[in-house]
Amino acid sequence: MKLYNTLTKTVDPFITHTENRVEMYTCGPTVYHFAHIGNLRTYMMEDVLERYLTFEGNTVHRVMNITDVGHLTSDADTGEDKMLKGAKREKKTVMEIGAFYREAFFEDCKKLNIKTPEVVVPATACIDEFIAVIESLLEKGYAYHAGGNIYFDTSKVKEYYTLTSHAADDLKVGVRDDVSEDENKRNKCDFVLWFTKSKFDEQELKWDSPWGIGYPGWHIECSCISMKNQGGYLDIHCGGVDNIFPHHTNEIAQSEAYLGHAWCKHWFHVHHLNDETGKMSKSKGEFLTVSLLEKKGYDPLAYRYFCLESHYRKPLTFSYEGLDNATKAYNKLINRIASIIPEGEVDEAVVKKYRADMIRTVGNDLNTAMGITLLYNILKEKVSSNTKRAVIDLIDSVLALSLLDKADARRKEAEDAAKAKAEAVKADDSHAGDPEAAMVEAAIAERLAAKKAKDFARADAIRAELLAKGIILTDIPGGTKWERK
Ligand code: AMP
Ligand code: ZN
Repeated sequence: MKLYNTLTKTVDPFITHTENRVEMYTCGPTVYHFAHIGNLRTYMMEDVLERYLTFEGNTVHRVMNITDVGHLTSDADTGEDKMLKGAKREKKTVMEIGAFYREAFFEDCKKLNIKTPEVVVPATACIDEFIAVIESLLEKGYAYHAGGNIYFDTSKVKEYYTLTSHAADDLKVGVRDDVSEDENKRNKCDFVLWFTKSKFDEQELKWDSPWGIGYPGWHIECSCISMKNQGGYLDIHCGGVDNIFPHHTNEIAQSEAYLGHAWCKHWFHVHHLNDETGKMSKSKGEFLTVSLLEKKGYDPLAYRYFCLESHYRKPLTFSYEGLDNATKAYNKLINRIASIIPEGEVDEAVVKKYRADMIRTVGNDLNTAMGITLLYNILKEKVSSNTKRAVIDLIDSVLALSLLDKADARRKEAEDAAKAKAEAVKADDSHAGDPEAAMVEAAIAERLAAKKAKDFARADAIRAELLAKGIILTDIPGGTKWERK
């Protein structure tokens, strides 16, 4: 595959350290609140990437952290502690908040067909590893003590701004206006590896360390969790564009200082989802969540379709109008697939051609919109239904829109309704010419479907509605008879 690499700023061939094995790392959620649908855009595109790499025949070993300690409201060690903020808001403990929102995150992912990475590690489970890496960074002279905290010294690395195009001057204290933030820092971009002098007296989670009781900074967790589970060579690291600086920049600095060699070859960043007023954020009152979309009657997978229609490297603006259009298109696609009755031999040559088309399109910097176009193309082909289904299955192994499952369920529903109607009519053909026969038969069919779905309340309600119109139903073997009072 070819994929844009934030490190080289070009679309590069994706080459792994070990052939056919991909070590993939994903920055996980900070579990102090529900994920908004912007966060989930990022996880969804990372999921498509993982599925695509698997489609190409790779084994993907994917690791993700859960940030349950250390993340301040500003990514650069200033502001409030996010977990503490969540705990205060809900009058719960930090651990309770973390457990609740972690589960909520994976439930949202499930609804959006986002696979759970093979390894998921909360930061609070790796404190010993963080301490060991920080000790080593101190020994090697990449870190220093100041005011009770341990800082990473960014001036010690040759190229700090590998991912961004800041000027080297920005590194110096005093260059930027907001410099007085933390007087302990020797250089503007130095960052905290371990806090002992916390600004948050009520900090709940603290651990013993060689430098006193404290807790880790945010950036150290991803480097340590990745190196522990994936070794010293990472193939691809993912996140949203806001992670590029300072989070990923700091991850590179500390990992390479610790390892003594280049760490991760490929950096994948998903652009933001914005709402119509600007950047989406969790602090903006009622924010957009998967549950909110569901409450409004949307299928979460219609949101997945909405995201797949645009490219991951472009900002995307969310609107309900846009989601309505995506819902219509998604439903139309499912209905078209539902109208294909499975039959005929699978033409493997056609499947092979579409596999090549996938590599040419989705494999070219994850062009998911072209993946959707391929679905429409196969529907137009003059090939057997089973060939169409095999190609749809192949494409959907990457897009994960549950197309065949949804189409099959829809077809079965339609078949059941038609069968129910036919049964009802067959069982009672004594009303030919009755102007109300069609209405009664439709009601009988609906009642039968409700009974099959074990919705007895609805079935009883239909019977009562007909009775109110003077029509009495009697269940007989194989159907339902009706007569007037
Ligand atoms: P957080 O839970 O805040 O640590 O963020 C989780 C993920 O969502 C990170 O990879 C962020 O880069 C990403 N992210 C944050 N805001 C947005 C947004 N508006 N659109 C897309 N991704 C986002
Ligand atoms: Zn991270």
